[in-house]
Amino acid sequence: MNYCDAHTHLQDVSDLSAVMARAKASGVSDFICNATHEADWPKVMDIARKYPGVSVALGVHPRFLHTLTAGWEKRLEQLLKDNPSFMIGEIGLDKVRADQDPVVSGLDCQERVMRLQMNLAAKYNRPFHMHCVRAWDRILHILKSNQRPPVFISHSHHGNAAVIPKMVQMGAYFSYSAIFLPENREKVRQCIKETPLDRLLVESDAPDLADEPAAVPGLVGQMAVLRKEDPVVLTKHIYQNFKELVHGRSI
Ligand SMILES: [Zn+2]
Repeated sequence: MNYCDAHTHLQDVSDLSAVMARAKASGVSDFICNATHEADWPKVMDIARKYPGVSVALGVHPRFLHTLTAGWEKRLEQLLKDNPSFMIGEIGLDKVRADQDPVVSGLDCQERVMRLQMNLAAKYNRPFHMHCVRAWDRILHILKSNQRPPVFISHSHHGNAAVIPKMVQMGAYFSYSAIFLPENREKVRQCIKETPLDRLLVESDAPDLADEPAAVPGLVGQMAVLRKEDPVVLTKHIYQNFKELVHGRSI
């Protein structure tokens, strides 16, 4: 049985060869590695060259706007043109960051950078990996009003379950991390229950949450309990969803 990890930052993992060996031993064979800022881009590409099964997502995360330098979007576009398998990520809105650094990272700046990257995703038909912290109304408006590729992923999803049907119509997949495990995370747990089987994904978000890809089989098992589904069937569906996402399914 194959497991996949739909959202990682393997470039930030300290002992990568050991982490990847443990992933392999746990049956985790496919990964998406997201950059957070431009200095990450070559590191993520190197990891994908070194480890089979790693797919690349390049972009600028809303927590890293202070790292932007002139011409970044042209350089990102060139890498997308040169590499048809590359996706966009990680992009989005983060209200906590905006409050910490309103001048450089305010929500208006974050929105502008997100829309630029969504435009590239639409132009080159690549899925994008979306981060959203405490800015759901605004991000839904952006999703509705901006051009989009056919599919995208809401990573470590924890919005209100009511957003799920609307986002499914827009082409969203929903990836869940270990944040759903504590029983008091009722909102996330409800989202997991209400996500259609053909839009469900799982992630370690390594090394955030102090997690690593080898945790994925355990997360799938917990999701199966919540959804009252057979873990084997769930694992197969999630793997199929992952492959469809990476290869840019049209809906
Ligand atoms: Zn991330």
